[in-house]
This record gives sequence, C-alpha cells and structure tokens, in this order.
Amino acid sequence: AELLTLKNVRMEYNMGKTNLVAIDDVTFSVERDEFVSIIGPSGCGKSTILKMILGLIEPSSGSIMVNGEPISSNRSRLSVVFQNPALFPWLDVLQNVETVIEPIERDKKVRKEIALKFIKMVGIDGFEKAYPRELSGGMKQRVSIARALATSPDIMLLDEPFVGLDVFAAQAIREELLDLWESPDLPPHTVLMVTHNVDEAVQMSDRIIVLSRRPSKVIEAKRIDLPRP
Ligand code: ADP
Ligand code: ADP
Repeated sequence: AELLTLKNVRMEYNMGKTNLVAIDDVTFSVERDEFVSIIGPSGCGKSTILKMILGLIEPSSGSIMVNGEPISSNRSRLSVVFQNPALFPWLDVLQNVETVIEPIERDKKVRKEIALKFIKMVGIDGFEKAYPRELSGGMKQRVSIARALATSPDIMLLDEPFVGLDVFAAQAIREELLDLWESPDLPPHTVLMVTHNVDEAVQMSDRIIVLSRRPSKVIEAKRIDLPRP
C-alpha cells in the first residue's frame, strides 16, 4: 500500500522579480515498509522535497499525501534525522530521547523504558547520562536515530544522515542500521532517505529515485528497482 505519494509536485522559490524553479514536476510514491532513497547532485531539490513532506514549505502546485490524506490535515507521524544531529545540548542522552516520546506516552516509567530500548538498539547504551558535547559525531547521530525511531513514526525521513561523519563511523552505523531494519524488535518502518552518495543508496535501499538536473532546471524522477541483498 502506498504510504507517501507526491503527484506532479512543483516548487518555485520567489526570488523577488523572478522565480527559481527548484522542482519542476515530481511524481513518486513510497510504499509501507519500503526503504527508498532519493539521490541527485547538490541543488537538484532533495532538501526541498523533504521540507515539503514535513510541511515546512508548501508546493507551488501538485499534491503530497501521507496515508491518503493531504499533509496539511495529516495526523500521521513523521520523524526526521538531519545531517547535523539536532540534539538538545542541555539534556543528556536519555532525556533527549525521552523528550520526543512525551507527546505520545503519558507514563513517565514507560517513556523511560521505551527510550532505553531504542538507546540500546542503536548501540549507545552506557551513555544515557552523557551530554551531547561529550559525544562524537557518530554517537550523536545514533542518538538522533534513536530519537527518530522512538516515536514509532509512520515514516522516517533521513536527510544526508551520514555526511558529517568520518567514513568508518558512517560505515559502522549504516551496517548496524541494516541489521536493525531486519530485527523483529523494530516495528514496521518506512524510510525515505535523501543522499548524494550513490553507494550508500545502493547499500541501504529497496528502491532508488534519481533526481537529475538539466540546464532548464527540469527535474526528472526515474525509478530503479534493486534486488534485495
Ligand atoms: P539539494 O537539497 O538537492 O541540494 P535544495 O532543495 O536545497 O537542493 O535546493 C534546490 C534549488 O532550490 C537550489 O537551486 C537552491 O539554491 C534553491 N533553493 C533552496 N532553498 C531555497 C530558498 N529558501 N530560497 C530560494 N532558493 C532556494
Ligand atoms: P543543506 O545542503 O545542508 O540542506 P543548504 O546550504 O542547501 O543546506 O541550505 C541551507 C538553508 O538555506 C536552507 O534552509 C535552504 O532552504 C536555504 N537556501 C538554500 N539555497 C538558497 C538560496 N539560493 N536562496 C535562499 N535560501 C537558500
């Protein structure tokens, strides 16, 4: 079943006298439990697509539906992992994860249990009391991933999640995530990842959407289906 659908989406940024066409006509969908990557060169509109899905900016035309509802009136839960882990510096690791569960779980004890479970899943148990400034980039990104998973989102958006990490940390986290996706402990999950790293997309995804940039700024979405490793 289709969970996320973009249909003939166009996005123009108002630049005063002119408009910049960032996205010309993009149509694609992501099915439940799929891991889909969007790849394309810098400036092709990847961040713009994520911002529209998150409802931070509105497409100039076309529609974006999650679970069959337009995003403006949507009750589905989305979570996002950004390139730079946006942790609360004044909260420790456990509190950083607990905070995001607050709106969906009233019971403090249950919140703690959920947070601890996801902290363990991403391999940072033992660091519950550490503050973000005490953690390496890779560890901080693990906290972000734990936080994104802990809300049991309908769809998880990853925006260049490994780009700020050294190659070894990035590779380790990618491999652990792949194992995690297969784990029965994790509820069903749908992921949309934006990356400019083709190898990363091939390694992680069920399917890749390629955005290409033309001189006319026309953006083209092509589907590449990959065999599951
Ligand atoms: P990517 O994430 O693939 O690098 P972006 O979505 O950031 O691409 O940008 C797509 C195009 O839209 C680029 O030409 C960029 O300069 C332009 N753009 C992005 N955000 C804005 C904005 N807020 N105002 C004007 N132009 C923007
Ligand atoms: P990233 O590549 O890390 O996603 P960018 O450097 O593309 O970030 O953009 C940083 C911010 O600046 C974003 O909020 C984006 O919307 C905005 N932005 C990007 N390009 C332009 C532009 N040409 N004019 C105005 N704002 C822009």
